[in-house]
Amino acid sequence: MKRVLFIDRDGTIIKEAPDEVINSFTKIEFLPNVFKYLRLIAEELDFELALVTNQDGLGTEFLPEEVFTPIHNLVMTSLKNENIHFKAEHIDKTFFFENAPTRKPQTGMLTGYMNNPEYDLAHSFVIGDRLTDVELAFNLGAKGIWINQGTTFGNNELSQKFEKLKEYIALETNDWKEIYEFLKAQ
Ligand SMILES: [Mg+2]
Repeated sequence: MKRVLFIDRDGTIIKEAPDEVINSFTKIEFLPNVFKYLRLIAEELDFELALVTNQDGLGTEFLPEEVFTPIHNLVMTSLKNENIHFKAEHIDKTFFFENAPTRKPQTGMLTGYMNNPEYDLAHSFVIGDRLTDVELAFNLGAKGIWINQGTTFGNNELSQKFEKLKEYIALETNDWKEIYEFLKAQ
């Protein structure tokens, strides 16, 4: 059976921008340790890598394809050059308010895994920096690895969501080294 790591991009591989849109090369900063440990994960462990990212308004004036694509290609080529190969990239282009079934935490882009008995989703993981990434794990029947870069639960809705989802968090960390060690121990 195949196990998958569904990996978010912004806030997980590269840092999230303050305005939450990566529309300039100047906003690219890779997370510490991501190259070294994602490479070890790719080389030593038996997981398929799949990128799953929401890119709000991709293809609109908010984030034109010609702005997004060269930046995204730089990120993915940098990983590839370190022997980190993603088998698939799932990029949702909608805005939050569109409520699309393809937008994380919904699973619309990932039904190919859910409907294929070759995939062992119960032993697969979603790695991401938001609770919606953990919620995606729940919706897939997988577990979440939550990269918490200092989320505080100021508002009630978020803290209620956390209470509901925390049992699906297999690991909470802000260090790729810990993610590697955790996965290796599985
Ligand atoms: Mg993210």
